[in-house]
Amino acid sequence: MVCCPPKPGTYVVAFRLQAERALTVGRLGTFVFEPGLYVYVGSAFGPGGLRARVGRHWHGARTPRWHVDYLRRTVPVAWAAWTTGKRLECCWSQALAADMAFCVPVPGFGASDCRSGCHAHLLVGALETSPADVLVPLVALGRGAITLMMASAAGGDAHHGAGGEPNG
Ligand SMILES: [Zn+2]
Repeated sequence: MVCCPPKPGTYVVAFRLQAERALTVGRLGTFVFEPGLYVYVGSAFGPGGLRARVGRHWHGARTPRWHVDYLRRTVPVAWAAWTTGKRLECCWSQALAADMAFCVPVPGFGASDCRSGCHAHLLVGALETSPADVLVPLVALGRGAITLMMASAAGGDAHHGAGGEPNG
């Protein structure tokens, strides 16, 4: 059960991929996904708001519609986080893309409708990337409080140490 509010807002859903996989992402094509923490950034301004949209990602969608639905079919959710009221998906995507810890795995992923020049609304970091590694740069934007929800049962290893060893 997803405890997000049924309000509009912006969210991230993190997927943890343990081993390399080739995945077909709708008409975008087939790509090799390296192991890592995949961070999808989206916004929910439709009926049911964040609860409906994050719930779709959290539980999986029966019929794939968005690029992220294809990722979700194979890769388990590690956690999700959101803020209410503002449309920040491009702002958040670009903040993460500017962070050396993340890169764009599939150009255009989730960004078909983007008018802000994002390379993608999906970023990838190292497998051991913690929620703080993702959320601290977003909180630093000063655009509102962010709530985190962990997938406690997913893979039995939802909590990874936050020990931040900088590696080159
Ligand atoms: Zn964008």
